[in-house]
Amino acid sequence: MTTVEEATKIVLAETKDYGTESIYFENALGRVLVEGLKADRDFPPYNRVTMDGIAINFDAFKNGIRSFKIIATQAAGETTFEINDPSECIEIMTGAALPCTTNTVIRYEDLEIKDGIATVKTEAVSKGQSIHLKGIDKHKDDLVAAASQVITPALISIAASVGKRDLLVKQLPKVVIISSGDEVVDVDEMPNAFQIRRSNNYTIKAVLQQYCINADMIHIPDDSAITKQQIENCLQQYDVIILSGGVSEGKFDYIPKALEETGVKKLFHKVQQRPGKPFWFGKHGNGVLVFAFPGNPVSTFMCLRRYCCLWLEESLNVSKQKIYAVLDEDYVFTPVLQYFLQVKLSMNERGQLLAKPITGNGSGDFANLIDTDAFMELPLKRNSFTKGEVFPVWSFTPGGQW
Ligand code: AMP
Ligand code: MG
Repeated sequence: MTTVEEATKIVLAETKDYGTESIYFENALGRVLVEGLKADRDFPPYNRVTMDGIAINFDAFKNGIRSFKIIATQAAGETTFEINDPSECIEIMTGAALPCTTNTVIRYEDLEIKDGIATVKTEAVSKGQSIHLKGIDKHKDDLVAAASQVITPALISIAASVGKRDLLVKQLPKVVIISSGDEVVDVDEMPNAFQIRRSNNYTIKAVLQQYCINADMIHIPDDSAITKQQIENCLQQYDVIILSGGVSEGKFDYIPKALEETGVKKLFHKVQQRPGKPFWFGKHGNGVLVFAFPGNPVSTFMCLRRYCCLWLEESLNVSKQKIYAVLDEDYVFTPVLQYFLQVKLSMNERGQLLAKPITGNGSGDFANLIDTDAFMELPLKRNSFTKGEVFPVWSFTPGGQW
């Protein structure tokens, strides 16, 4: 049987660049920036006053002058006024450009203003204070945001500041999610006594939304002809097909056969893992990738996170650092399968990430997912794991932050 390590290698060998597109920057949150952003001018672009008060020439203060005649008031956005004599000052507002004839700003709190004269009440004035110097943060043409990063609110702010209205981002693959099974009905239908509502397809859709992918969804009954026909259609329209259910050994699990009959080459079927052992992965001659997960909700979720999200992050060139956590309880698992233990993460006072096992009732127990944050990947070749040991964890949130 394919090991987790082999399966990972096979999946990652299929990483693919889906190209780029230019989109309006306000719509770019969560997308992957392809180009680096450069400063279109110095940051700040002029000597920016950072306090409301007066602008003076510091030499005057050094020479003992404490009262300055206000000869003009300059608001932010106005052209500068200039002083003609060291005993003069400009009353000035935060955000205004510093007049060339001044070099120091004294805030209102340190002044007394009467009859057009500002008197300084403090001796604690230093040359150049309360001025954000032109170009001190970035020079024109400096890189202000590196390429290959997920667009965050801070990056949107930088794009706005440098006048970058359209951003070049990675194009996303077109994805369809196919659920299957005669026993599963849609959310607004009333299931009969032997049916359940389908949920996996919505889980997958929600996870993909976190990468800004808006996947389509279809459902197919346990019928071999319909299964084949629907897969054939999808192979013409999408880059990636994600299936949930129908890949095990059941009499009505038609999916692996239908995939092979429609020209999807099996790259592996069954991985030495729990949950998610029946996972099927393949590729069509036209490049379409097929992730076919077992229908048990925890299995689907684990395979999606561990393989599909990893593949997507690599394809988008935003793969993240692996995260490790400290097992917080002894744990025993005897089957010869690589176990993905559901854990609740927390941080202790020494800054260590702790993983507390919360096992639930197996791969059908999707309610347990809500109480956990990650899967801890326990090594295949061992049965018992001791509190304090460190293992990799796969956080449920994309990008690996927990
Ligand atoms: P299967 O992999 O088709 O044998 O399904 C395994 C289990 O997962 C069965 O109990 C199914 O009812 C359940 N299941 C399959 N598809 C879904 C789905 N879309 N949402 C929730 N449960 C599902
Ligand atoms: Mg089924």
